[in-house]
Amino acid sequence: MFKRVPGTKDILPEEVSAWQEIEHTSRNVFSLYNYRQIRPPVIEDAGLFSRSLGEFTEVVQKQMFLIKREDETYALRPEGTAPIVRAYIENNLDKTAGFIKLYYIGPMFRAERPQKGRLRQFHHIGCEVIGSVDPDIDVEVISLAHTLLTCYGISGYSIKLNSLGCSHDKKELTSVLRKALQPKLAELCDECKARFDKNILRVLDCKNESCRKIVNALDFGHQHLCADCQAHFAKVRQGLDNLKVPYELNPHLVRGLDYYTRTVFEISHPGLGSQDALGAGGRYDNLVEELGGSPAGAIGFAFGVERLLLARGEVAAAGSLGLVYVIALGPQAKEYGIKLLAQLRTAGIPSDTDYENKSLKGAMRAANDLAARYAVIIGDDELKNNTVTLKDMRDSQQKVIKSEDLIKELKK
Ligand code: AMP
Repeated sequence: MFKRVPGTKDILPEEVSAWQEIEHTSRNVFSLYNYRQIRPPVIEDAGLFSRSLGEFTEVVQKQMFLIKREDETYALRPEGTAPIVRAYIENNLDKTAGFIKLYYIGPMFRAERPQKGRLRQFHHIGCEVIGSVDPDIDVEVISLAHTLLTCYGISGYSIKLNSLGCSHDKKELTSVLRKALQPKLAELCDECKARFDKNILRVLDCKNESCRKIVNALDFGHQHLCADCQAHFAKVRQGLDNLKVPYELNPHLVRGLDYYTRTVFEISHPGLGSQDALGAGGRYDNLVEELGGSPAGAIGFAFGVERLLLARGEVAAAGSLGLVYVIALGPQAKEYGIKLLAQLRTAGIPSDTDYENKSLKGAMRAANDLAARYAVIIGDDELKNNTVTLKDMRDSQQKVIKSEDLIKELKK
């Protein structure tokens, strides 16, 4: 028997409504903020990612699913930012739209070691704003993330905020770190020893106990920021304060990818265990130019949908749909039940019936299993009197009502 690939997941029918709810809420909130959806392909030229994320990042070095075909090497996309910037340039959106606000929803692929909240195929809901360096856009993007979480019904998360500065400042930060970490090099884990030369910022978010101790003892604040980046960061903080978006400053937050500049942020939730990041993002002011477009400031973030669902807890998704389950007993009642079902559906009321000729008891059990909100029972008496019995599945109260009043009653 074939099994699913490790780190992938079948999203089963009973889970799908929770996914759809998250997607639906996201679409509504994004349009409220005037973001439009973009749907790039899931495979891209592998070079796109090494060029933008950086040759020495973990994602590129260890986690890419590569597909070789003749002379080409493709990658299943590990993230959405680089493909969207590629699409922005390739479709001349820089020339036709200039400033643009986009969102996306879809699967991403990383060959990580699977564990709770960490998959090899997972899903991002994210956005990218391209064409502005205005700190007010950083404020909009971070407050949008905050609004989305509130609308998903998630609370108890924290937003960590930092500024890496421009590329010059990042070099400065790199050398500050190199100086500070040099005397401790022998105590770092093997991976961090390699990162020391190739991607030293990544040492700051190593999970290894002894690396953490060393990093926590470092005190480097924001002195690497130039005057412009200091001012930009101050405006971002002020804007968030004005909107009462809660955040914590964290100078250790660096994000591992090369393309990040200036504002970076990460949103974590204590209920998620070791994989506690719900989402993350930041500015990438040099990426558009680096990938061949005209210089354009940009910022974005992505949430991991699987983690949003974990943080939200098990939601009785089917129940929240308000399903009405029609139970018709006997062939004549059945014929009537099918007509009624069609009327309910035409009226926009999610509904279903028993197609297995179950007894009343069996059909009630099926209604329960489907987490139906109401059962509508039609037996001989109801048929004769043009009535139905409407049963509220939450409190088991039932009443007999005229058939013609059913839709009105349910729409209450
Ligand atoms: P990143 O691009 O790594 O910052 O990812 C953004 C968000 O996607 C993270 O904060 C997680 O919520 C989610 N995420 C990243 N990698 C995985 C993974 N392997 N499995 C599940 N979710 C992930």
